[in-house]
Amino acid sequence: MDEFSLIERYFRRPGPGGEGVLLGPGDDAALLTPPAGEQLVMTLDTSVGGRHFPDDLPPFETGHRCLAVNLSDLYAMGARPLWFLLSLTLPEVDEAWLAEFSRGMFALADRAGIDLVGGDMTRGPLSVAIQATGAVRADRVLRRDGALPGQILAVGGVPGLGGLGLRHWQAGQRDSASARHFAAPDLDLTLGRRLAGRAGACIDISDGLLQDLGHVLKASGGLGAVIDTGALPVNEELAALDAEDRLALQLSGGDDYRLLFTWPADDPLPEGTVAIGRISGPGPVRLRAPDGSERPADSPGWRHFP
Ligand code: ADP
Ligand code: MG
Repeated sequence: MDEFSLIERYFRRPGPGGEGVLLGPGDDAALLTPPAGEQLVMTLDTSVGGRHFPDDLPPFETGHRCLAVNLSDLYAMGARPLWFLLSLTLPEVDEAWLAEFSRGMFALADRAGIDLVGGDMTRGPLSVAIQATGAVRADRVLRRDGALPGQILAVGGVPGLGGLGLRHWQAGQRDSASARHFAAPDLDLTLGRRLAGRAGACIDISDGLLQDLGHVLKASGGLGAVIDTGALPVNEELAALDAEDRLALQLSGGDDYRLLFTWPADDPLPEGTVAIGRISGPGPVRLRAPDGSERPADSPGWRHFP
């Protein structure tokens, strides 16, 4: 089957396109109407097989995951997803693989309300690049530089779940809740919009809580923070781990694709989110144990994930 027939079969879907789509896949380029009164938000992430996802990740999960990492960035900006472009590099044409990849990708795309409007297909080592566009009103955008001393630090999800999932995946325990979250990240499709215009700063946790918090603190002018380690939410699998091992995953695991944000101290937190600490004036990030003792977050002992 030639490239055009493959695109026709697996990536072009009948019916009217989504919001603002005048022309989707099939012409020389997509033709789109930007929503009036909103800013466009654009992001691009390339997922290379064997590097950003395991070589043996099944195609359904691969399709889901490669779109999820892009959607996560749109949500972290408070944006509503609109359109995406897909650049697919495949070592060979494998129709069974394409069918499952496309099914996984579109299942998430449909839930998120984002439309595939075009792309490209080439031959080479497996790689999936997705460029996603969303929209948000300028006064509702969520940025990394909006944290202020005194604000609550909160998360929507379980930091460490993705990191534990990667470990489970590599150990062949692929049915655990965390392994399933790692393979096909379970995004919160509504939180970003609920935070928009209200949170101080926001970022999605992709590289680990401490590292991503570090980006927020730096962008916000070099602030510090205290994390109450006992307040970090856990699932059963994380709860079953040895305490230091669990803390290492919670602080540095990565692959969570959930939001970390700051929130006014006097306002009730949005549903489904948990306070895990507080933003402070300039200074190091400190970890406060349940017994009240504090230590700097850069102390050795749990840095197993460089
Ligand atoms: P051109 O050589 O003009 O760039 P292509 O063969 O790359 O044409 O693409 C033809 C049409 O098919 C374009 O509208 C393009 O957006 C679409 N397309 C190509 N690859 C994909 C893909 N993987 N998913 C969705 N649309 C695609
Ligand atoms: Mg092209």
